[in-house]
Amino acid sequence: MNVPDHAHRPDPGAALAALRAGHARFRSGEPPAPAAGAGPLAAVLGCAEPQPEPGVLFGGSELFTVRTAGLSIGPAVLGSLEYAVAQLRLPLVVVLGHRCCRLTPGSGDGRIRTVVAALRHRSPLLDEAVRSGRSAIHGMTWDDTRQLVRSVRRVEPPPVRRPARSRPPGRRVAGIS
Ligand SMILES: [Zn+2]
Repeated sequence: MNVPDHAHRPDPGAALAALRAGHARFRSGEPPAPAAGAGPLAAVLGCAEPQPEPGVLFGGSELFTVRTAGLSIGPAVLGSLEYAVAQLRLPLVVVLGHRCCRLTPGSGDGRIRTVVAALRHRSPLLDEAVRSGRSAIHGMTWDDTRQLVRSVRRVEPPPVRRPARSRPPGRRVAGIS
């Protein structure tokens, strides 16, 4: 049976490592590894603008792929990714955009970070999966010119705004008169 073996599904880090290894195969020109038939390794939200299929970019990895113009997200996309995480129990969602995209209001890392944040903001299910560590959402860009997929560096969320505290009282220095 081709039912994914949930007991042995990789954790988010292992899934990402497998994708990186797959992309290294793609870069080296090796033929894609035949899919293991164990079910998809990760979900990918990719831009619909022409680019190699994510499965090709990641060296023949079996993926659950959703593609939209400029990574736009709506209920259908959120529902598909929630299915991948909750039902297929995939440990990783990759947001794969273009380094330079003709379709979006903005390209590259900033656009990817916005989409990653929006997925968590708009889907409590995805947000909870990330918070619990069961799944991760990882941003990547595809560079057409260099034929290269790179990870988008994560930016720490802004610190929680706290009510302004009164300054700590200045410590009196003893012994000075
Ligand atoms: Zn694009």
